[in-house]
Amino acid sequence: VSFSDFALNKQLLTAIEELGYKEPTPIQEQAIPTLLYGHDVLGIAQTGTGKTAAYLLPILMKIKYAQGNNIRCVILAPTRELAIQINDAIADFGKYTDLRHTAVYGGLGPKTQIEAIQAGLDIIVATPGRFMDLYLRGIIVTKDIKYMVLDEADKMMDMGFMPQIRKILEVIPRKRKNLLFSATFPEKIEKFSQEFLEAPVRIEV
Ligand code: AMP
Repeated sequence: VSFSDFALNKQLLTAIEELGYKEPTPIQEQAIPTLLYGHDVLGIAQTGTGKTAAYLLPILMKIKYAQGNNIRCVILAPTRELAIQINDAIADFGKYTDLRHTAVYGGLGPKTQIEAIQAGLDIIVATPGRFMDLYLRGIIVTKDIKYMVLDEADKMMDMGFMPQIRKILEVIPRKRKNLLFSATFPEKIEKFSQEFLEAPVRIEV
């Protein structure tokens, strides 16, 4: 299997080639077609497996072009470091697209983050607390959100973010695609994923 076997566009394939990726990793091989088809995905995968590209490439393909002012994809991550890393990956894979994206997280004033959001964004990568804060301030508009990704869900649960994540799920549209990635799959993640995901395809690597 090569990346060109997937229904990805030229902009994405060129970026992948420039990054030096020769062939998809196992999770990419399974998740990319599944997400392009439109299924929810439950991914049980560690960092280092290529999970970020596994969900970003199909989402970038689906979202395609900058459109309107409102966010269409939210990616929640447990830490500022991971949020920045995911946002950097969007910059790499989306180099030849015009998609607008940023990372928002706590620990610094929200001014620059607010300006980025108000300039118009397609994708936001956020820690749960800062996402909710910016939503409650009326900065983040949720009505056009079509993709919701929880990355390192087990870590977010361990860090006590679940009540906040549940609140976020209440304020975003019900009709959307959901993706959950977790390095481990304890019973509490299994239960949560049953509520959060709709008929998911489970991918374990
Ligand atoms: P991740 O598991 O998403 O944190 O990715 C781990 C590392 O593998 C990152 O540095 C990626 O850039 C890299 N990577 C992801 N997919 C591929 C691939 N198909 N070929 C080569 N490197 C990759």
